Amino acid sequence: MEFARAELVSAVTPIEPLPNLSALLGIDLHIKRDDLAGTTMGGNKSRQLEYYLGAAQAAHADTVLITGAVQSNFVRTAAASAAKLGMKTIVQLEARVPDVDALYGSNGNVLLSRLLGAEVMYYPSGEDEAGADAALRERAAQERQAGRTPYVIPLALGNPPLGALGYMRAAEEILQQDSAFDVVVIASGSGLTHAGMLAGLRAVGHSARVIGSCVRRDAQQQRKRIRTVLDALAELTAHASQVGDDDIMIWDEALTPGYGQLGPPAAEAMAMMARTEGLVLDPVYTAKVFAAVPALVESGEITKGSRVLFVHTGGLASLFAYQSALENAFPHG
Ligand SMILES: *Cc1c(COP(=O)(O)O)cnc(C)c1O
Repeated sequence: MEFARAELVSAVTPIEPLPNLSALLGIDLHIKRDDLAGTTMGGNKSRQLEYYLGAAQAAHADTVLITGAVQSNFVRTAAASAAKLGMKTIVQLEARVPDVDALYGSNGNVLLSRLLGAEVMYYPSGEDEAGADAALRERAAQERQAGRTPYVIPLALGNPPLGALGYMRAAEEILQQDSAFDVVVIASGSGLTHAGMLAGLRAVGHSARVIGSCVRRDAQQQRKRIRTVLDALAELTAHASQVGDDDIMIWDEALTPGYGQLGPPAAEAMAMMARTEGLVLDPVYTAKVFAAVPALVESGEITKGSRVLFVHTGGLASLFAYQSALENAFPHG
């Protein structure tokens, strides 16, 4: 089945070796630079948006509606990508993170979304995906009454996981670059990135272990979510899922203290990557994901000498909204 796709990621993102970390950890570590995918600070959401905005274009939409956390990279990337395609964006920001300061509400992705011309609305809960989607749809109905053609990018399970198609495509791209990886370490939040990569590799018979590192929910909840997304993806693509339950690998030890909050394991991972390889991770997602690599080498789940691919999914725009958390984590940094 062919899906409409807007071309937002015009170049293959590099796979680079990380020689200093490889020597430190005793593995052969590479990084997939999806932080460079797409426009305006890029990231994994550019690949997902190719399919959502492709569908929006096919529906002749002129307005895109999307919901996310206040420092959501998804809404910022949507605002940039939709602007490029000539569509207006309405972003809904959910109060998902406790104890935030003024910079959190105004800098980083919020600043960029406004600069990109998005209209910003707010939703009071961060744990009600169905409610957040319902509020978007209500707003979309108002736009329709006003003569516009809205397209809603939904958040909750139960909607076709179009975004996962972007990571099935990314799996193909990776295999064309280098197919010799034993392990792929990747973010697991909404699950579209994790499920798409896993399904994409298995669809062509590649057996690399795909370890999803939790950024939003604990391992038990996330395992169920990934199963649900994989089944929905199989239905969407009309192919039986080639991923068994045992093939869903989840690690959640850097999630602490919760979504959007920087805890010690993530801060250590950020420092390790920055000071060893000169590459910056973000406090919400990629620091928690990369933390799995040294931890799983230490526990023996990733054996010495393995070829490991860490997928950098972006998120750098939020760094400047997390100034106080970062200053607390790195007081002399
Ligand atoms: C959204 C996001 C993720 C998580 O991706 P999902 O597809 O939601 O699981 C990881 N990294 C960054 C930088 C993100 O913005």
